[in-house]
Amino acid sequence: MPIQILQKAFAKAPFAKSKPPKRDFRIGIPRVLNQWSTHRFWTTLFVELGINRRSIVYSSDTSEAQQLKFGKGRGAVDCCYPVKCMSGHYGELLNGQKRPIDILFVPIILTVPSFLRGHVRENMACPRVIAGPESTRAGFRREKDVFKELGVHYLSPAVSLADPQIATRQLYDALKGVITDLRMTELRAAVATAYDALQEFDQSLRRQSLAVLSECATQNRPCILALGRPYHMDTGIGHAIESELQAFGYPILWGQYLPLDAEILDWLYGDLIKAGRIQSPFDISDIWKTSHSANTNELLWAARYGSIMPWITCSIRFSSYECGMDQPTYSPVQEITEALGTLFFVFQDLDETKPAGSVRIRVETIAYYLEQKSPNIIQSKLEALKTAPPELLLPT
Ligand code: SF4
Repeated sequence: MPIQILQKAFAKAPFAKSKPPKRDFRIGIPRVLNQWSTHRFWTTLFVELGINRRSIVYSSDTSEAQQLKFGKGRGAVDCCYPVKCMSGHYGELLNGQKRPIDILFVPIILTVPSFLRGHVRENMACPRVIAGPESTRAGFRREKDVFKELGVHYLSPAVSLADPQIATRQLYDALKGVITDLRMTELRAAVATAYDALQEFDQSLRRQSLAVLSECATQNRPCILALGRPYHMDTGIGHAIESELQAFGYPILWGQYLPLDAEILDWLYGDLIKAGRIQSPFDISDIWKTSHSANTNELLWAARYGSIMPWITCSIRFSSYECGMDQPTYSPVQEITEALGTLFFVFQDLDETKPAGSVRIRVETIAYYLEQKSPNIIQSKLEALKTAPPELLLPT
């Protein structure tokens, strides 16, 4: 089986059930922030509402060229790197299309769907993610209103995406302004299909992760866990560092898409539950008290998964320049990861500079440690688990 790179799935055209197009809009959506984990929802929603799939355009991955050509002079100041990059995406969609867009759609995602919902305090998006669309928009209205000049409708509804009922109402209020004949029944059906598509997308990535883990278990060889935010899969934000490691023969799993099969979770967390430390495999209250942020919660949860799973012998932490949300998580994530001997490396303060030489040296160093240490790490983590791996991972 070929080694998987999960983020490749994002490069493909998002799936959406085809319906005969009946509404003639061209919609641009910046491929930024939590679009990396929710874009399947948005594409499906618009296709279900009768927009031609080919008329739903995403900006490309973040790049220096994109920023220089389309975002120069428009950027938000004093902000983290992923939000700063948004201006390049806006500019590409506004000024870089052969066929101009009619609508720039930038949802302000207030809450993020998460498999940890119900086990944590909240599923909020990062405050800078929430503020990002408005601060970026301001850069295109500073001297003159670029949207008005180009005749592009800027549509940026606040959406509580973790709560389907509220999200449906919010979307109806926003979309009826541009789809004047929109009916609530039609929107409700489209939203339901969009949630199904998002769930299927998540599940398909988890199936890929399971196949990778199962192959590692069968061959008793290591893989690497990438711990970052969804947009670290963007090659301009995460710099594809994990792909360089993969080139050394170590498959990569992303923390957001680890397998959630009951047999595996029982195997990994059974002792912690019996000891009364956690209530369920999804409980992170013992390691992360302030569980309000969906992406941070998943990060902490994945760190523990990786620290126990035997064939994950190394976790790599990604963090962007000026990220306020990551600051308090550095120590806990490292401590959790290293508790049973899993290797831990950090690529911190990632911004537009990719020092290729130093990344290369660090990647070679990580690969060296993986080669030297992985057999013992796998062995000692297997012993710590006491029971045999489930059939799903290691068929007998
Ligand atoms: S999590 Fe950090 S890097 Fe991401 S948007 Fe928030 S502050 Fe910026």
